[in-house]
Amino acid sequence: MSKRIVGSHAEYKRLESNILQISQEAKAQKKVYDDVIDATVGMLHHENGDVFKYQVVDDVLKMLSDEETYNYAPVRGKKTFTEGVLNWVFDKNADMIRNDFKYSIIPTTGGSGAISNTFFNFNDFGQKILLPNYYWSPYKNFALEANVELETYPMYDENSRFNIKAFREAALKLAKEQGRLSTLINDPANNPTGLCMDKEDWIEVIKVLNEVDELGYPVILIHDIAYIDFQMKDTQFSREIFETYKNLNNDVLAVVVFSGSKSFSMYGFRVGAQIGISKSQEVIDNFTRVGDYSVRGRFSSVSQPGMNVIDHIFNNKEYLDKYKTELEIGRKLLKDRAALFLKEAEAHKLDILPYCGGFFISVPTKNKNIFEDLKKDRVFVIAMQDIIRIAISSLPISDIPELVKKIKKHI
Ligand code: PLP
Repeated sequence: MSKRIVGSHAEYKRLESNILQISQEAKAQKKVYDDVIDATVGMLHHENGDVFKYQVVDDVLKMLSDEETYNYAPVRGKKTFTEGVLNWVFDKNADMIRNDFKYSIIPTTGGSGAISNTFFNFNDFGQKILLPNYYWSPYKNFALEANVELETYPMYDENSRFNIKAFREAALKLAKEQGRLSTLINDPANNPTGLCMDKEDWIEVIKVLNEVDELGYPVILIHDIAYIDFQMKDTQFSREIFETYKNLNNDVLAVVVFSGSKSFSMYGFRVGAQIGISKSQEVIDNFTRVGDYSVRGRFSSVSQPGMNVIDHIFNNKEYLDKYKTELEIGRKLLKDRAALFLKEAEAHKLDILPYCGGFFISVPTKNKNIFEDLKKDRVFVIAMQDIIRIAISSLPISDIPELVKKIKKHI
């Protein structure tokens, strides 16, 4: 028998149906056949398959000084970067956060670094993080790496709306079982479903968090807003949900997860942030204390050029205006694809989950073999439980009618 080379706690680790691996497979097939449809990649692409890069990002990157490019970045980032993130994320609610709350912003390696840091520090080992049953699968990796687990509740009620009743029941149950509630909500423009909760849903979520807090348990809300700029109603609407934060009880900690990947197409740069918000200074001091430590202990610091590009864009009106104009073009690209997908789905009587934004549309299915069946037709999607996830972010318009037909055939 061979020696066990990895630690016993790492024996289970195997990246099997990983999204990035499936996209590699689709790319390899594309080199052999020209009718491959690859709807796996959560990156925004132009119609010709090139990544949707922002010219202003490219221009600013080329203007960075050596110091801004090569030096180690401060663990806490530059103030102009972190305050810029606050202004961008909260927009007209940024002053409300500044006036009514204490806050602290810790740069991280993408939104992923922010989520994994939060999972790591705000639970006891073996505890569970509560989230809806449809979720971005890497949350599971972040959790297991942090010695915690996930607990889910049904995301939708009978009217295909956010299931507040199920959330409340699950939150109270879990808090009573483990003496704490740590819960993640990915909104607006959820990955994988495309759901956007509305302000009323958020009012109810905050009521539940307060109810748990009043029972004497610590409460941590992890609010993953990775797709906030691709919610399709309008960008202001996606910021309005933060108004509901006003009602948060004193001790509740909200950790808002910012991702530079989606908003700036800077996927490879690995820039993000954990924005800790609470009415309690003590809670925020604790958030900063453990956050700083974990940045140093887990990934040292964040990409210096990546943060500086975003910093310059946030703090220079000319760049910011250019960025906003380009963002509108990206949003339109996505909007057109979504509109065609919805039209074709209706024409073929294909049921989809309600879509209101983001990079993905999901289709419910009872076919347990759907991934393999579609693969035989040279269609690549991500299959999860009882849905398939279609990345419209990387799907050319011309592929959509054929894709819908093939999905309908196997669903
Ligand atoms: N949250 C969700 C829901 C995502 O889909 C992603 C990326 O796909 C992220 C967070 C984090 O992305 P990154 O680590 O690249 O910022």
